[in-house]
Amino acid sequence: RSMVISLIGRPNVGKSSLFNRLMRKAHKAITHDKPGVTRDRHYGIATFEELAGKDAAEAILVDTGGFYPTKIEENVPRKNDQIMNKFFNIMTDQAKTAIRESDLILFVVDSREGVLPFDESIADYIRAQKKPFWVLVNKYDTDKQEGEELEFYQLGIGEEEMFKVSAEHGLGLLDLKQRLQKEI
Ligand code: GDP
Ligand code: MG
Repeated sequence: RSMVISLIGRPNVGKSSLFNRLMRKAHKAITHDKPGVTRDRHYGIATFEELAGKDAAEAILVDTGGFYPTKIEENVPRKNDQIMNKFFNIMTDQAKTAIRESDLILFVVDSREGVLPFDESIADYIRAQKKPFWVLVNKYDTDKQEGEELEFYQLGIGEEEMFKVSAEHGLGLLDLKQRLQKEI
């Protein structure tokens, strides 16, 4: 079967931007929003044929909403907060489903913010599920940020599992794609 790869991480770290970057343009059209509560989970077929030549390999890449490591209290006084908290919990449940279905997790973090406690909780969760994961240190837009990636080794990964990328500027993505190609 095709390999399933999921983009996981806190909200706003750049998962969807990376998703769009990793998808070939021609295939973006077949990504879709599922109706209802799963609207924030996108599927797409990523192909790496530009790297693999004729032996085009395929993988299913899954974008997810945000992962909130702790269950958020839904029984709060304000109706709006109740709805938002429910939404956060639904997104996290979806991300957990994606993790369960995945062969490899691309765990996205923000180079500028550094390692947050939430990041550590997410790494712990993925590890507890016994899933292999790579860390994509995103928003690494310029070499002036050299060194920002180092603290992410705290997440318990080796050099081979870390990728400095910038979805916005398209940096580091060729290296990532080549490594993915080898995995698929
Ligand atoms: P998601 O919530 O994890 O899916 O994050 P998004 O892909 O929606 O991106 C969140 C914000 O970060 C948006 O404003 C993006 O434009 C911005 N962003 C994403 N990737 C990068 C990057 O590589 N560099 C910078 N500077 N901003 C980025
Ligand atoms: Mg997103």
